[in-house]
Amino acid sequence: MAGFAYVAPSSIDEAVAVLAEHAGQGLKAQVIAGGTDLLVQMRSLNKAARTIVDIKKIGETGRLEIGADETFIGAGVCCAALHENEELKALFPGLVEAADLIGSTQIQGRATLGGNLCNASPAGDTIPAMMADAGVCVIAGPGGRRELPVEDFVVGVGRNALQDGEFLVGLRFPNPGAGTADAYLRFIPRTEMDIAVAGAGVRLTLDSDGTCTDARVAIGAVAPTPIMVPAAANALVGSKVDAGALDAAAAACSEAASPITDKRGTVEYRRRVVGVLCKRAGAIARDRAGGR
Ligand SMILES: Cc1cc2nc3c(=O)[nH]c(=O)nc-3n(C[C@H](O)[C@H](O)[C@H](O)COP(=O)(O)OP(=O)(O)OC[C@H]3O[C@@H](n4cnc5c(N)ncnc54)[C@H](O)[C@@H]3O)c2cc1C
Repeated sequence: MAGFAYVAPSSIDEAVAVLAEHAGQGLKAQVIAGGTDLLVQMRSLNKAARTIVDIKKIGETGRLEIGADETFIGAGVCCAALHENEELKALFPGLVEAADLIGSTQIQGRATLGGNLCNASPAGDTIPAMMADAGVCVIAGPGGRRELPVEDFVVGVGRNALQDGEFLVGLRFPNPGAGTADAYLRFIPRTEMDIAVAGAGVRLTLDSDGTCTDARVAIGAVAPTPIMVPAAANALVGSKVDAGALDAAAAACSEAASPITDKRGTVEYRRRVVGVLCKRAGAIARDRAGGR
């Protein structure tokens, strides 16, 4: 039986080679970014021996670049680095507030957006925020590079779209144009360090008249995967994002949700809460967009 091993490739090709070689030989290799999910899982859920592939020594995974049209956030960039980047916070306040919700300051010093996404928890806080922001996954594998919208990346509870030998290099986000802004809200039963009962990410574009010309709404923790809610977006487009439009968007989120009952809340409660969060996040995104 193969034992534990740790490798820290310095290039994308090297990382792909290690992952592909293990897959080809039927051996387990697993990427580590911050390790804030992985190490907890290895101590409790799955203690099986494996090769840990640390992607943080690869230059591109550590890159955070705000370009003229888009922003790239490498899969090794921790949430604390996002919080400390004032330019990023000004461009994507909703995305950064989602990252700010993960664990504690200590956890945010390790945790990454990529790890949150690859872990594929229904309640991963940054996933609806990235979906609302039209994020795109940059994936490297034995066949080269490919890209996939964040909304297509999570395919089930704890399952993502990565194939054997592939890993997430980073995430691309179109920079918001004039009158465009995002927001993310979640609800937890206590003040911090808990898993979302529900979450909602909204990105809106307003024209000079204050009319909504584009909207993206994504919700989390209320279905097996975070989901886009086009009906909620449609309820906002063409409106001034007033109380009536926000109520309609909230109702669409409650309708789209297919939650479970657990110790954090019942099906009925989660449906209700996700609507309220959509309404509030929509109002925040509207106010932010109006100021741009
Ligand atoms: C105390 C505590 C509080 C937390 N609070 C929250 C919270 O409030 N909200 C929340 O959403 N999460 C929370 N988490 C979970 C966790 O911190 C986040 O999901 C975090 O973003 C994971 O990122 P990471 O870099 O640490 O991932 P890792 O643990 O390194 O990896 C997570 C999974 O993704 C895979 N992976 C990571 N990076 C890649 C990559 N680039 N390519 C392919 N696969 C990859 C790993 O193999 C592993 O399966 C909490 C965790 C702890 C311990």
